[in-house]
Amino acid sequence: MIDPCSLQTKPLLSVDEALAKIKTAIQPIMASERVALKNALGRVLSEDIHSPINIPYDRNSAMDGYALSSVDIDFHQPFTLTLAGTSFAGKPYQNTLQTGHCVRIFTGAVVPDGADSVIMQEQVELDDAYITFPAACKASQNIREAGEDIQKNGLLCADKKKLTAADLGLLAAAGIVDVPVRRKLTIAFFSTGDELTSLGHPLTPGKIYDSNRYTLAGLLNDPCHNLVDLGLIPDDKGLLEENLKQAAENNDLIITTGGASVGDADYIHEILAKIGEVNFWKVAIKPGKPLAFGKIGACYFFGLPGNPVSTMVTFQQLVAPALRQLSGAAEVKPLRFLATCTTPLKKMPGRQEFLRGIFSQDHDRAFVVASAGRQGADSLSSMSRANCYIVLPAESKGVTAGEKVWVEPFCVLI
Ligand code: AMP
Ligand code: MG
Repeated sequence: MIDPCSLQTKPLLSVDEALAKIKTAIQPIMASERVALKNALGRVLSEDIHSPINIPYDRNSAMDGYALSSVDIDFHQPFTLTLAGTSFAGKPYQNTLQTGHCVRIFTGAVVPDGADSVIMQEQVELDDAYITFPAACKASQNIREAGEDIQKNGLLCADKKKLTAADLGLLAAAGIVDVPVRRKLTIAFFSTGDELTSLGHPLTPGKIYDSNRYTLAGLLNDPCHNLVDLGLIPDDKGLLEENLKQAAENNDLIITTGGASVGDADYIHEILAKIGEVNFWKVAIKPGKPLAFGKIGACYFFGLPGNPVSTMVTFQQLVAPALRQLSGAAEVKPLRFLATCTTPLKKMPGRQEFLRGIFSQDHDRAFVVASAGRQGADSLSSMSRANCYIVLPAESKGVTAGEKVWVEPFCVLI
């Protein structure tokens, strides 16, 4: 049997086709601002950043030990050198190393001129001011050359990089105090549906709590975003139109959930067509087919389906890449790997499907994955249990236990 949702007079857009349309449509924001390095985590660089200094700044020791000159090494028998002084991290030995001498040195301390090797302290014998080294110590050991990690003027981080903790450390190591980043995106979102009730109010018959605004706020939580929660708007054409028009004036992007389908109370697509431009509506994705993408004036718009899991899947697969592009960040492809599926999975051919899964490693460390439970588009409990999507291609007719499937783990994007 074919998925009835995929039988249209016009074939539905595939997920890849929808992604390609989004990629063509979205112009990244160009405006930038300078932020202090300590506030730059997760922000997107707007220029290449080069290092004003060598990293390491000085030639320094990678070990606690003794610095010597390789001309003093005896290749046939242990040899003894005179201890001439100490080089501490931050307090270098001030003189040039003389032949027949060695210097006590600690990790990170500057290697004295004339020394070209550091021998670990565990390898030597001490006798007051005389240090005995084993035969055939190697030259050029345990020394970090100046600029070995990054040369002066070398690239630290490239334009479009979304800064990680490691990047902050790298930039700090180069003495960078602030960085140019793209300005933040302003994103407005609201839920629509006459049945929705805000938290803190009792439910009356036929009503449900508005959970999507909470998942959306969680999904949108990012240092590049300023969020504007516009609350709940009923299935009222006039109100929806008015709110969308107003939000489009002050935001880079609007995301709505609910009312994007073809029911009698689903107005989102009709309003988008009236006050803006529809780029596409409906995608061959399960869950989440009824999804509208377009623009209202200069503001991008995503109308996501209301079912809570459809909201999440369509956000992660289609909105998240759009946001990355809009924020000016370099593109990242979702990481997917093959795992053996331990549970059978039902599927009708027609739409690409994102099932909630739980992946782990078996006793041989091989990846296995199982269904996280009920796969209804409303079932947030299995979404909450899941740690990955099992991604089945549109043409798949289901999976028997033991087959390999593609797994997309949650939370791996950098
Ligand atoms: P719709 O996309 O408006 O046709 O809604 C599809 C399903 O999702 C219906 O069962 C709605 O009650 C439910 N739904 C819509 N919006 C929300 C929301 N904000 N929170 C929880 N469920 C919702
Ligand atoms: Mg509705």
